[in-house]
Amino acid sequence: MCPNPVRTDPIDDGPARTRAEAGGQTLPETTIETTSPSGADATRRQKASPRSGAFVRPVRTVAILGAVGALVAAIGLPAFASASGPADAAPVTTEQLAAGNAQSIVVASEATQAPSARGQFTATTPDEIEKRKAEEAAAARAAAAAASAATASSSRPSLAGMALVAPGSGAVRYPVTSFTPGEGPGSGRGHEGWDMIAPEGTPIYAAAAGTVTASAESIGGYGVSIMIMSNLNGTMVETRYGHMVYRSRMVEAGDQVAAGQLIGLVGNTGNSYGSHLHFEVRIGGSVLDPEPWLAANAG
Ligand SMILES: [Zn+2]
Repeated sequence: MCPNPVRTDPIDDGPARTRAEAGGQTLPETTIETTSPSGADATRRQKASPRSGAFVRPVRTVAILGAVGALVAAIGLPAFASASGPADAAPVTTEQLAAGNAQSIVVASEATQAPSARGQFTATTPDEIEKRKAEEAAAARAAAAAASAATASSSRPSLAGMALVAPGSGAVRYPVTSFTPGEGPGSGRGHEGWDMIAPEGTPIYAAAAGTVTASAESIGGYGVSIMIMSNLNGTMVETRYGHMVYRSRMVEAGDQVAAGQLIGLVGNTGNSYGSHLHFEVRIGGSVLDPEPWLAANAG
């Protein structure tokens, strides 16, 4: 929804009419140049026989239409308002417009005041309308982004009752403390990790202290994933955590993490068919089998 729609019907705009009715101010002695030759003819007929009943209604109708036309022209195209009007058009004064019809006073008043009240209108020229639309579109995008951020924030998985640190005291920890062993690396289909099967929402802990090198909602087939580089007694060990729950990442690239620190939740994102943690261990670029590596090092 657009919170501030551009008003495209300036005739319905309120400020000028309200001021004319409430203020009761004197009508300015300005003239309106009608652009309708028939309006000029009608005016002349009115002058010729001002008391002729046969001409009252046509005169009033034409005068009002002329005034409305002037109003629309003045509001819609203010840049041309001063230059509009053919040279042979006969001027019609507001007194003439008002003759015998109070309603025409209001119309004439609006027509003459509209240009000075230009700042009160939402948009007047096509350029300004386009500019206004662009501004509102930008505002709408900002509002949508804010709403999306609020939704993301409010829908972030709850950590209530969840251990923020994995059990144990060693330099290496199991990234998931309760799981069913799944497929490991070297299966012949390019699988380079160990699938630790656990329900969605199971906490994931950093296997070792280190620096987060990647953290994103989508990294190829990993889906929501985090990568950490650790220095374990001089050996650089990279661990990767894939298929996490959307918006569950607790750390960003560049962050320092401690061994066993909660970093996210087990999910089913990316190239995954069933909730599990895809856990990888790499040393010097080579893929290790995480299962024996954890068994030998974690504690
Ligand atoms: Zn896997």
